[in-house]
Amino acid sequence: MNANALKTLLRLQEQDLTLLQLKKEAQGIPARRESILSRSASAEAGLEAAKTALRAREAEIKAVEGAVEGLKERITRYRVQEMEVKTNESYRALEQEIATCEQEIRTEEDRELELMDTLEDLQKDVARAQKELNAAKEAVQVDLTRLDERMDTVREQFNGIKQTREALIAELDPELVKRYLAHLSSKEDAYVVPAKQQTCGGCHMKLSPQTLHDLNAAVKWTPCTFCGRLLYDPAQISA
Ligand SMILES: [Zn+2]
Repeated sequence: MNANALKTLLRLQEQDLTLLQLKKEAQGIPARRESILSRSASAEAGLEAAKTALRAREAEIKAVEGAVEGLKERITRYRVQEMEVKTNESYRALEQEIATCEQEIRTEEDRELELMDTLEDLQKDVARAQKELNAAKEAVQVDLTRLDERMDTVREQFNGIKQTREALIAELDPELVKRYLAHLSSKEDAYVVPAKQQTCGGCHMKLSPQTLHDLNAAVKWTPCTFCGRLLYDPAQISA
């Protein structure tokens, strides 16, 4: 092997490792999209809860108004009866009934006022929840746009690297490329590693004197006897 082939292979490896990273990032994008979308879900649930509480209060108020209407109708009926009664006693009894109804009406109307007071708060709750949902949706949209942009960049880089690596592969010995690609697809990490301080840069095992000798002679590709990765002396490429 020569320094040029080594440099070419290292460049190819650099491109391929970047390619692997990009691929992993692209695979993670749907999950990131889901997670971004889920961020507005709690705001949506908050708005639903606020609306439900408001509707329940409105129904309560309507029920109180219905009760008041009923009491007023009863009073009207008693008044009609009063015109028909013959004795003072019966008249007083009806007056008593009317007084009771009027008292009940006052109680219901007080209750209605109280409910009306809380209604305003509940309306404010709905408005606030709506505002929060709008903000959450806006933030989600911003992040989704960013994610789409990132995906475009990843795709562009991916395609660019694919072209570059084709050209690099064409320069290399096909047999070497085959071994390199086999390692890359099974291990998804570097196949060509530096030998540093007599240690393999891939598996970090101490290299044998024979391996170091072969490496220094630099006449052929020298594999690590432990992990099978190809070794190179960093001095070879700095020259
Ligand atoms: Zn090794």
